[in-house]
Amino acid sequence: MNPSNPPTGQSTPEIEELRHKYYNASVMDLRMPHDHLMIVRIKPDEEVPPFSGGQYTTLGLGSWEHRVDGGPLAELEKPKLIRRAYSISCPMLNLQGELLANDEIDYLEFYITLVLRPDTDDPPLTPRLFRLKEGDRLHLGKKPVGTYTLKPVEPGNNVIFAGTGTGEAPHNSMSIELLKRGHTGRIVSMTCVRYKGDLGYLDQQEQLQKQFSNYRYGA
Ligand SMILES: Cc1cc2nc3c(=O)[nH]c(=O)nc-3n(C[C@H](O)[C@H](O)[C@H](O)COP(=O)(O)OP(=O)(O)OC[C@H]3O[C@@H](n4cnc5c(N)ncnc54)[C@H](O)[C@@H]3O)c2cc1C
Repeated sequence: MNPSNPPTGQSTPEIEELRHKYYNASVMDLRMPHDHLMIVRIKPDEEVPPFSGGQYTTLGLGSWEHRVDGGPLAELEKPKLIRRAYSISCPMLNLQGELLANDEIDYLEFYITLVLRPDTDDPPLTPRLFRLKEGDRLHLGKKPVGTYTLKPVEPGNNVIFAGTGTGEAPHNSMSIELLKRGHTGRIVSMTCVRYKGDLGYLDQQEQLQKQFSNYRYGA
């Protein structure tokens, strides 16, 4: 546990033990395009596991951690690790504007929207994720999985990705993987959101379009 970042939830010796048992990663960087949308970089205690663009892993926090919506915490007698699947996104470009390959970074990036569903009995994760700050600890799945990958794509194929909201996440890491390997076909990433402010990657996407004539981002 990082002593400079005490956990924001409840604290008893039992809970400290559970945190120690389950939490295996730290928040390295966190950007909030608005208060319901986050781009978060998670650094595992061990090496970043290998993954292919399009795959997902799990993030988790204890049911004892506080919620951004002030909702109820799970009863302490029944503490549980709440885990959900998240597609691995991608920072796309480094500060010099160069493509950043998935295997060149020592963290995993996620693009997450806050889901507020007070009507569910199952303890939700996102209201807890949205209380995180840099340095906080959490659970990260050990092995990225998923068959939604670029396996069937040939170098000259035209590729169209279509998603809504944070459904853009897997397409970001797939697009970068294609560009990095010198894909010659056209790549179009389309996304649908309610407001322009919901486009968390707009700056990077515009930069990418300028650099690669075969890449288009349509929102
Ligand atoms: C393979 C996979 C990849 C995923 N990748 C991402 C990702 O990159 N980013 C991301 O934000 N979420 C992603 N999700 C959804 C994520 O796993 C959680 O379901 C979501 O974050 C809500 O978690 P929760 O615990 O707060 O609510 P839950 O208890 O999980 O869900 C409560 C209800 O909200 C619904 N719900 C889930 N997501 C949304 C949403 N975006 N808008 C409206 N309703 C929703 C659920 O279907 C459920 O009915 C992914 C899910 C899967 C299966």
